[in-house]
Amino acid sequence: MNEVTTGPAVLILLGPPGAGKGTQARLLEERFGLIQLSTGDLLRAAVAAGTPAGRAAKSVMEAGGLVSDDTVLAILADRMAEPDVKAGVILDGFPRTAGQAEALDALLARTGQKVGAAISLEVDDEAMVGRVAGRFSCAACGEGYHDAGKPTATAGTCDKCGGTAFKRRADDNAETARARLQAYHAQTAPLIAHYRSLGVLESVDAMGAITDIAAALGSFVARQTG
Ligand code: ADP
Ligand code: ZN
Repeated sequence: MNEVTTGPAVLILLGPPGAGKGTQARLLEERFGLIQLSTGDLLRAAVAAGTPAGRAAKSVMEAGGLVSDDTVLAILADRMAEPDVKAGVILDGFPRTAGQAEALDALLARTGQKVGAAISLEVDDEAMVGRVAGRFSCAACGEGYHDAGKPTATAGTCDKCGGTAFKRRADDNAETARARLQAYHAQTAPLIAHYRSLGVLESVDAMGAITDIAAALGSFVARQTG
């Protein structure tokens, strides 16, 4: 990666559940050496560890609602304080409310940073429930799969690492997916206008092939890190 002269890149991926934020963030992480920062992953880890934040978040996540800004911001600020994020970050699933967007701006301003780009993954809502409801991932390497759309080549074995254990998120069912879509439209979609007004919004058609979407995202990110 080239020298960054304007401070580490801070990129945001916006889009409803199932849009492919996690998949694309992982690819950008590999290609550009940025750090993927998923508040969903951080919250799931807190739930698994049984921390106070995790205990507060568990039932909200299972119902497909949004965890309180205070809880999410505390978890995110802790993670942003770790040294590896100096490489630049891809925020996946954060911010999700106007309050979180303001708090992020304030957090970055303390170190003279700002959001470099907010990339909106444009998808067809109707397809998202089906995408979310069928997905699972390899427990060892994290590779993502889908019952109908992207099964493993050999049943029960990960294509990427050969692992044989898989996991499914507790909230990846049709009912919860619908609630999450609703939360997205009510609370998160308005952030698209916020980032457009700041002049940092980019939009990508995210209904195509994973590699095509990755190429489009890569060209935006190259501008930020180059
Ligand atoms: P998806 O984008 O597929 O919904 P995530 O892993 O990003 O998946 O989020 C899973 C759940 O975690 C959300 O439904 C919500 O309950 C909670 N969550 C994650 N990030 C946030 C956030 N920034 N603010 C509030 N709740 C969040
Ligand atoms: Zn694997």
